[in-house]
Amino acid sequence: MSAQTVIDSLEFARAEQELRGSLPVTSLARLQDGLFDASGSIEFVIKGGRDGERRPILALEVSGSLHLQCQRCLGLLDYLLRLFNLLRLVRQGENGGAEADDPDAPDCIEANSALDVAVLIEDEILLSLPFAPRHTEDACRSVLSTVQREAGRPAAFARLADLKKI
Ligand SMILES: [Zn+2]
Repeated sequence: MSAQTVIDSLEFARAEQELRGSLPVTSLARLQDGLFDASGSIEFVIKGGRDGERRPILALEVSGSLHLQCQRCLGLLDYLLRLFNLLRLVRQGENGGAEADDPDAPDCIEANSALDVAVLIEDEILLSLPFAPRHTEDACRSVLSTVQREAGRPAAFARLADLKKI
């Protein structure tokens, strides 16, 4: 569906168009490094419109699940991807003015008559992912195996308890 994901961003916003689709995780090449495996797909909706000051914006919604790799046990970490972002379209060379420094202002991207939505979505996913994803402590294999080892050595626990009292 690569042909369908290229839009004229300004025209798309002006005409308040909407594009929905899904992308297989295998197609997101730059994402692969952080993945446990590339199974599944992500869904996206991109809508064109204008902000309160009638400037062209794109509203992007992405959802799906990714198989990240837990940085503690290197196991599979099911990550629920759900992101929503507003992107303001600016002319080439324009940096968004004073708002560029405002963390609450929408991100700015350069208007592009051949914007590849798949690339944009991959950018947004990469920005949203945790830097070092980990299972929660009670779900992580490496923590569980440590606890199980410790459980077999009550003396070690007792010593630990003694240390904590100090
Ligand atoms: Zn883990």
